[in-house]
Amino acid sequence: MSKTIFERIRDREIPASIVFEDEDVIAFRDIDPQAPIHILLTPKRVIPRINEALSSDKELLGTLLLKAAEIARNQGLAENGYRLVINNGPDGGETVPHLHCHILGGRTMKWPPG
Ligand code: AMP
Repeated sequence: MSKTIFERIRDREIPASIVFEDEDVIAFRDIDPQAPIHILLTPKRVIPRINEALSSDKELLGTLLLKAAEIARNQGLAENGYRLVINNGPDGGETVPHLHCHILGGRTMKWPPG
């Protein structure tokens, strides 16, 4: 199966503005930012979407959320707040089938989302 675009970023086959990386996850700036700070955090190991996550992914999913909060804090977003978004499937607005968490901040978010 062909690689997802985020695997290609992980493998340095295409450029990205990487803000964090460890053995489990990689975070980089969204190419089409929807807020002053818009970072994508994705597991290095592909889970297509949250709907396909298994109980064996529990630790990785916990890592993803805790790391998202850490990155938000490091980006100076903790005081004013920020939004974490995971899109799932066509109605959810998912366009890349490689689980990722959007970290959005630097402006006031609206509710409901579009
Ligand atoms: P989603 O719609 O939730 O699947 O999010 C996919 C996100 O990936 C979108 O916000 C895109 O702007 C972003 N994106 C697509 N290609 C790239 C890329 N090469 N580098 C960084 N972000 C990308």
